[in-house]
Amino acid sequence: MDSNTMREAVTPRETIELLKSLVRIPSVNGCEEAVALWLNDLFQELGLETSLYEVEPHRPAVVGVLHGKRPGKRLMYTTHFDTHVTDNMEIPPFKPEIRENRLYGRGSCDAKGSIAAMIMSAVLLQRTGCDFSGDLLLAFVPDEEYMNKGTTELMKQGITADMAVVGEPTEMAVGFGHRGCTHIDINVTGRAYHSAFPERGINAIEHMAHVITALRSEYFPTYEQKHHPYLGHPVINLGLIRGGTRIHTVADKCCASFLRRDLPGETTEDILDGIQGFLDGLMARDPKLCAHASLSTIQQRIRLPFFMEPDHPLVSGLSESCRRAAGREGEKQVMNYYCDASILCTESGIPTVIFGPGSISVAHSAVEYIELDQLADAVYIYADYAMSLLAGEEKTP
Ligand SMILES: [Zn+2]
Repeated sequence: MDSNTMREAVTPRETIELLKSLVRIPSVNGCEEAVALWLNDLFQELGLETSLYEVEPHRPAVVGVLHGKRPGKRLMYTTHFDTHVTDNMEIPPFKPEIRENRLYGRGSCDAKGSIAAMIMSAVLLQRTGCDFSGDLLLAFVPDEEYMNKGTTELMKQGITADMAVVGEPTEMAVGFGHRGCTHIDINVTGRAYHSAFPERGINAIEHMAHVITALRSEYFPTYEQKHHPYLGHPVINLGLIRGGTRIHTVADKCCASFLRRDLPGETTEDILDGIQGFLDGLMARDPKLCAHASLSTIQQRIRLPFFMEPDHPLVSGLSESCRRAAGREGEKQVMNYYCDASILCTESGIPTVIFGPGSISVAHSAVEYIELDQLADAVYIYADYAMSLLAGEEKTP
């Protein structure tokens, strides 16, 4: 189908109106029920087969299915409708405004823009009477921003597919990988004592200062030797530190929490063993030092890396769809952020790509917006991609 036919079937204005409606329904992480029910109603109006799946009480995911004319493969278009909080915002979060060809509001790019474009791509297939086989699933979930419970639950309930696209803001690049995340706590134990005799205690905070300096200068640089051709090397950031109990006591405890971005093939065990091995070396040199590395209590699920070969047909195919539908090949990129692609692909074995309008640099920010040109193009790209993946082919039983 040529690009003009598509642009006549669904106008950019319709997609903008849909996105405005979505932004107007607050759905900050934890309070997503209203938007899920609204989407369920919309799917019914559109004639899709629609179902709600309880992720937690009052936190449903919604899945709409557009059936093709013959049995075939299942393509899942998916993303999240929960948004980041709004307290730091400098614009009205839920009153969508259009200025300079951008739509402003919370969730406009992360990820309601992708939701609007994915839905309108299905509408486009309906309106043009597109002859395709298999199913196009529109699966929208709560709780991506915090614990990724939505997609995890859908996988648990057996909502599966042969291939998937995660709609996160990629600025129209085709995302084929991201690193995983491990939250690590290092606990240093000392000995409390009256502050008048600091030499009689063991100061855990001072020991921690030494541990951090040593890790940063001697151990963390070894991560740079672990090289992945696309994802680079692991990086680690110290994000939190807590220590001591009161000012007049030698601090007996200190905990430093790190977030490490991991590569495919690295296991949690290897990561922790590597750090502990280095700490053991420090302890051998200083018998008073007691330092232990463990998975942080903050981390409630293992967040694995996601990676597809950049020449995989699903990756190249989406890049081609960008060229056909929007006149410019989609640049293949790895993403700097973790998303549900990990759960779909790495954990559940569904070949997946990440693609969506908007820039991650304004997601979660005080002024979130989406470029309307990207929003419009995304509809035609998603539609072209669905047509190319589901065209004709019948699945052998
Ligand atoms: Zn997102």
